[in-house]
Amino acid sequence: MKMSKLFVQTLREFPNDAEAISHKLLVRAGFIKKLTNGIYTYMPLAQRVLTKISNIVREELNATGAQELLMPFVQPAEVWQKSGRWQVYGRELLRCKDRHDNDMCLAPTHEEVITSVVSEVVNSYKQLPINLYQIQTKFRDEIRPRFGLLRGREFIMKDAYSFHTSQEDLEREYEVMAKAYSTIFKRCGLETKAVQSDSGAIGGAVSHEYMVLTDTMVGENDVFYCENCDYSANSNHAISILPLEATNGADYGYSEEKIVDTPNVKTIEELAEFLKINPNCILKAVAYIADSNPVIVMIRGDKEVEETKLLNALNALEIRPMENSEVREYLNSEAGFISYRNVDKSKVRVIFDKTAQNMKNFVLGANIKDKHIVGANLESNIEFFDVSLVKEGEFCPVCHKPLKVTRGIEVGNIFQLGTKYSKPMNACYTDENGQLKPYIMGCYGIGVSRTMAAAVEKYHDDFGIIWPIQIAPYHVDIVPVNIEDPEQSKVAYELYEKLCALGIETVIDDRYDRAGVKFKDSELIGFPIRITVGKTISEGLVEFKTRKDGQMIKLTPNEAIEKCQQILLN
Ligand code: ATP
Ligand code: MG
Repeated sequence: MKMSKLFVQTLREFPNDAEAISHKLLVRAGFIKKLTNGIYTYMPLAQRVLTKISNIVREELNATGAQELLMPFVQPAEVWQKSGRWQVYGRELLRCKDRHDNDMCLAPTHEEVITSVVSEVVNSYKQLPINLYQIQTKFRDEIRPRFGLLRGREFIMKDAYSFHTSQEDLEREYEVMAKAYSTIFKRCGLETKAVQSDSGAIGGAVSHEYMVLTDTMVGENDVFYCENCDYSANSNHAISILPLEATNGADYGYSEEKIVDTPNVKTIEELAEFLKINPNCILKAVAYIADSNPVIVMIRGDKEVEETKLLNALNALEIRPMENSEVREYLNSEAGFISYRNVDKSKVRVIFDKTAQNMKNFVLGANIKDKHIVGANLESNIEFFDVSLVKEGEFCPVCHKPLKVTRGIEVGNIFQLGTKYSKPMNACYTDENGQLKPYIMGCYGIGVSRTMAAAVEKYHDDFGIIWPIQIAPYHVDIVPVNIEDPEQSKVAYELYEKLCALGIETVIDDRYDRAGVKFKDSELIGFPIRITVGKTISEGLVEFKTRKDGQMIKLTPNEAIEKCQQILLN
């Protein structure tokens, strides 16, 4: 490819609406162009990277026996009504009507369509198992599209769906996919960690997320992990063992239940200081609205509520913190003093977190302004849920060593779905005994466009992107310092022809620009190898520079070709 012909526009400045470095660099280096919020054109350079990632995905999945198909992006409401998700999928599902007034939507995912397709074809256990996948655009009207391709509204996903006759066979395929995923990301140049994750309100289902670990905020997930053993989990799923601490209010002199004045004391810290007690002896109440119903969560004072866990415990679709006016309306109290006691339990749901279980003689709100109860104890017959957020330093649930936390970008995930879709959609096969059974399903996603952005997040420097060779848009950038110099031009073009003939993806920067401009673009775009043809050509030498380590050596053109082959083969 000649640089003069390449459809790319590099920018001098970073876009001013970008926070994430991958967003900044992909725009500035001319890989993507924004059309509107969360929706981008993939320019030719990006398209080449996406194709490479997609091909790695294809090769690895095909090798497992999975088959590629392509399903419709625009879908009728009926399939979604059949699974029950038309009602419950929130506003991320972009709904519209066709000219005949039929309800339609843009596909955010394809469980419904694949289940319906398979149920038309697969009638017998003899046709199972099967694993089908596609690589396609998805649309999700994300509440907060941000970080460029990391959280877009339109994005490219690989989604695979497997169908089985038994849980054991699903688990076997799950392991096959887990292995394929590690290989896929490794081949894309990315180290990933498979972490346990929340799988929505499908109780008991197993799922793992593939995380690229980063310390920046663009990793939108907190990952808790143990350095001593294999345990790692998304914060929405992580569990821990708490340090042994005194959680008995009697140790602070509160052994008898009574109401005390706590004027203007609102936060846990203020309350702990006022009563001279440790926050872990306070039973905190946190109020939410879940699908328009009021809920109070009772949790140990030093712990926070993990909202995905809460959502699952409640089997709710949406939750948000209660507003002060709602605290007055539903709880007849003031924020800062609320409690599960003295509320109308027929109207307000109360959830007790497990951290409340062993508390004795604790402090809690009295549901009266400026008053708390001290020396309280829980009634018997309380059901406890795990709805608390793990904190760094709490202990690993497996080996009891302290847990650490880091951020992660989720580039893929694998799920054991079970019969979540096949049952409601009545998607069945006939087993050996002639009985109708719903398929047992798994699903497996990879964010193809997010993976490209994650690679940039991981691999860049002050000058631009440093593409891993396996997914670089081109391998080599040949820069003649002065294209008008006949000798430089001749050697550069010869090199170009030879590299192309060897199947090495090469760009020649044939522009009449200054060398400085060409070098800057070369580093910004992130070609793994740059070969500069300049004055040293009089000694028969070119400059060979690797982007990753910035190393520059002088070689003859033939040695440069050999070196390219060496690097690209590794
Ligand atoms: P997230 O928790 O990040 O919203 P998700 O659980 O909704 O992801 P899935 O529905 O399982 O994700 O989609 C599979 C993969 O698609 C994810 O692992 C991620 O890599 C990618 N993906 C999901 N949402 C987006 C998005 N808005 N922009 C880009 N990639 C996405
Ligand atoms: Mg999502």
